[in-house]
Amino acid sequence: MGRIVLEQVTKSFGEVTVIPPLDLTIEDGEFTVFVGPSGCGKSTLLRLIAGLEDVSSGRIAIDGTEATALSPSKRRLAMVFQSYALYPHMTVRKNIAFPLRMAGMDKAEQERRVTQAASVLNLTDYLERRPGQLSGGQRQRVAIGRAIVREPSAFLFDEPLSNLDAALRVGMRLEISELHKRLATTMIYVTHDQVEAMTMADKIVVLRAGHIEQVGSPLDLYHNPRNVFVAGFIGSPT
Ligand code: ADP
Ligand code: MG
Repeated sequence: MGRIVLEQVTKSFGEVTVIPPLDLTIEDGEFTVFVGPSGCGKSTLLRLIAGLEDVSSGRIAIDGTEATALSPSKRRLAMVFQSYALYPHMTVRKNIAFPLRMAGMDKAEQERRVTQAASVLNLTDYLERRPGQLSGGQRQRVAIGRAIVREPSAFLFDEPLSNLDAALRVGMRLEISELHKRLATTMIYVTHDQVEAMTMADKIVVLRAGHIEQVGSPLDLYHNPRNVFVAGFIGSPT
């Protein structure tokens, strides 16, 4: 579960083409990082996969099923937003259970999933607190918890750590990598931070102006950058 295939996907906003035809395969269980400068189309690409934007043309398949016309909730993908997307007036428990409550899930099953997610994320002792009573890292974990309870086939992260200070970012990076090992679920992680890309990725997709410059493992890209742009971005010696 969690194989995502993009075939000749394009996206235009009015006259402006943000994603020219793009092909990409993300394998089941892979940790893929989309990296590239601001405005290169990372968020747009992630939103197309999530179904939050419609493709202008092309096809997206998730686990072998044509997903292009499916609504976001039918795609079984969980988008993790930055921690500020939590509801301040709700407890951690209610925040994590929110998507399940919206889906009308049975109370006992909601409870089972929230308990399990809280345990994986070390939030068990914080379930009755409100976001304002948590540290930045704990708030970020609540946002991840809200994704975990949906038991998605893939997690999509859009610069989830950009609101955190540098020290906390390093810790959360390790936590997300650790979570990936534990859940063994496909994760797509968007960042403009080369260090995040190099330390977290199984596979890095380097984007520039909506097209893919190069795809490879961190070591591939470091040792065999295809061009000066990739080398500069990845930080390999030129
Ligand atoms: P990134 O996440 O890499 O910083 P984005 O995907 O947010 O880049 O944006 C890529 C380009 O698409 C930018 O030029 C941006 O202005 C444009 N864009 C994104 N969303 C919209 C939209 N809803 N309407 C018009 N242009 C958009
Ligand atoms: Mg973005």
